Amino acid sequence: MSENPFLETAFELPWSRLTADQVRPGITEALARAQVEVDAIATLDLGAVTFENTFLALEHATETLGVAWGKVSNLQSVADSPALREAHNAMLPAVSAFYARIPLNAALWERLKAYSGSDDAKALTGVRRRFLEETLADFRQSGADLPADKRARLEEIQAELSQLTQRYSENVLDATNAWQLIVDDPARLAGIPERGREAARRAARQKGFGTDERPAWRFSLQAPSLEPLMTYGEDADLRRMAWQGTARVSGLAPYDNTPLIRRILALRAEKASILGYQNFGDLVTERRMAKSAGAALAFIEDIERGARAAFERECAELEAFKAAQTGAAPGRLAPWDLAFWAERLRKASYDFDDEALRPYFPMDRVISGLFELASRVFGLRITERAPGTVDVWHPEVRFYDVHDRQGRHIGSFYADWHPRESKRGGAWMNYLLTGGPTPDGGRAPHLGLICGNMTPPVDGKPALLSHREVETVFHEFGHLLHHLLGEVEIHSLNGVNVAWDFVELPSQIMENWCWERESLDLFARHHETGQPIPEELFSRMRAARQFRAGCATMRQIQFAKMDLLLHLRAGEFGAGDLEAAVRAAIADTIVPTEPPSPTIVRRFTHIFADPVGYASGYYSYKWAEVLEADAFTRFLNEGLFSERVGGEFVEHVLSKGNSEDPAVLFRRFMGRDPDPKALLVRAGLA
Ligand SMILES: [Zn+2]
Repeated sequence: MSENPFLETAFELPWSRLTADQVRPGITEALARAQVEVDAIATLDLGAVTFENTFLALEHATETLGVAWGKVSNLQSVADSPALREAHNAMLPAVSAFYARIPLNAALWERLKAYSGSDDAKALTGVRRRFLEETLADFRQSGADLPADKRARLEEIQAELSQLTQRYSENVLDATNAWQLIVDDPARLAGIPERGREAARRAARQKGFGTDERPAWRFSLQAPSLEPLMTYGEDADLRRMAWQGTARVSGLAPYDNTPLIRRILALRAEKASILGYQNFGDLVTERRMAKSAGAALAFIEDIERGARAAFERECAELEAFKAAQTGAAPGRLAPWDLAFWAERLRKASYDFDDEALRPYFPMDRVISGLFELASRVFGLRITERAPGTVDVWHPEVRFYDVHDRQGRHIGSFYADWHPRESKRGGAWMNYLLTGGPTPDGGRAPHLGLICGNMTPPVDGKPALLSHREVETVFHEFGHLLHHLLGEVEIHSLNGVNVAWDFVELPSQIMENWCWERESLDLFARHHETGQPIPEELFSRMRAARQFRAGCATMRQIQFAKMDLLLHLRAGEFGAGDLEAAVRAAIADTIVPTEPPSPTIVRRFTHIFADPVGYASGYYSYKWAEVLEADAFTRFLNEGLFSERVGGEFVEHVLSKGNSEDPAVLFRRFMGRDPDPKALLVRAGLA
């Protein structure tokens, strides 16, 4: 009998045979094989435990399943179909249950602990020591060490958290969708760009408002609809109504999230306490770079101090600008005026339009420039296989091989850049196979993919990207390099499998090359004339980057601080007026307006729409920005294309995955701890 295609181990995946009808037999077989291997560890003679037959065996036990399931999830992201979705959903409960059972398998845990207490284990070093520690911590944080009654309580908490967070996110969605604004007087649309009007007219028609002769326009609280109205709409009354809609989301019955928030915070605090932590923030951050919620908060408050002066200056500047433009006396802006007047000020200060850059970013040129950069900085040679010679999931998908300076085939990847109906939104990187050092002293290549929904080519003209899209391509490529350049013997510690507040360093650092003259000239060339970006356009683009950076920074600080304080001091938010308590805790970070805007606590899906999600982790955005802004200063100082700095970044960061504490890796690359000032300097706030 031939092997199920989801279980085949060939490096070039048989995409055309990875069909929906093969999912169930393939995954069922993978689950059965994994269970046999787990059972073999759990029934070992306690006197015969070794690293190989316990920890390493556990690593191998789940690998076939992980790879097979990865193919299913990837297909769902890029080539969804009703049959595939059905097959995925049919197998998902069994796969989730399999993984959830592992840390609760008492016999297995006994064997792991038996080995970890041995002299052999105490002598472990390097990646094997790291793997042992990480695995023990995974089991402990899942409750493996708890007595039966507490473990049962932990499972109850998990189940309740899943339900409550699901309801929280449904409330936000339903409350958002419950609001609409119908306009039938075209004069009230003054200022709104054509794309915003057109979308609003289509939305109205879809909902049965207006006719072709007498059109109407429908606005909703979804960002693509709301943003053009709030930023450009000259009718302040329309903006006020939309702001009121947003301000009320999930604050009123039947969608009020207040009781859910209190219960979620209490359950998270109880979970942390059962597992031996002071608060939920410490449970989440212990194994991240920050190490404790207190340290994360101190970090955020440090950035807050650095941004304070600019924040206050920018708030006053906007008030003065509006007063000068309208002839009214200076005073607080209304919350529905902020985006509108900030955009007017931006236009007055820079006269910069992102669209002016598009002609300089034809997709093919951007990609070849990116590969040229990877060649100069990281010594990589990237070559495309001829289309048609490799099996892919869609004819638009390209396949590339990556070789290093020594000519080693270090890995390959698929790239799938433009939107399709069967593909999910956004941009992402993922891995399909993990190679790296092999037991016989060789090295196997890695396999990954990068996907996006970039502006497609139209009418035979090349795809012209926005600058933000170019940054996204570079970003995902950074994640990809983290995987492909991995030299970690334990596959589950390779590449992007690192702490949440470290994982965006390799990706975000790549975006910096999209802002420097010297590197832009590699890939930013006018698609018709081949000319680089004119100097005066370049300097306006650079200046606009720092526009109102104090307010932008303070907004992120506001969310990060709210998240940390809610989880550090959950008790303070358990009773009384929730909104007032939250506002008091973060008052200094909110742009003063008249009337004041409610905080986002009742629609903060990042931290409340999932049992963990970004809870106590929102700070990671700023944390990662500090790491990459700081690390990039080495390229700024020693050369944008410095082979030496690039080589050290590969050696200390990209090749290491999670084989060491990320703080150690960063210190090796920089020779010191991260310096938060690097972020302030780049943002023009220092
Ligand atoms: Zn990322």
